[in-house]
Amino acid sequence: MTVKSRHSFEPYRVDPDPAVDWVIQARCVFKGETDCKATSPEMSDQQKVTKWIAQHRAEAGHARFEETYRRAVIATIDLRAGRRPRP
Ligand SMILES: [Zn+2]
Repeated sequence: MTVKSRHSFEPYRVDPDPAVDWVIQARCVFKGETDCKATSPEMSDQQKVTKWIAQHRAEAGHARFEETYRRAVIATIDLRAGRRPRP
């Protein structure tokens, strides 16, 4: 099956928003009789996330985690990009 899009997009660029910090969150992915799923607060400091992981490791003995990173971005029309001809 072929899907054709009829939308035409402006040439946008996407950049990190310098006014907003990264958000990092760790989650324990220990699987046992009951899955742990302990979750850290959302933080912008990687060292604090690492500290939370180390503390959970020491208290619960769990060693496997996932880290989620989220950042704010800004989309702006990229005036440097050439416009694509319309079909
Ligand atoms: Zn855990």
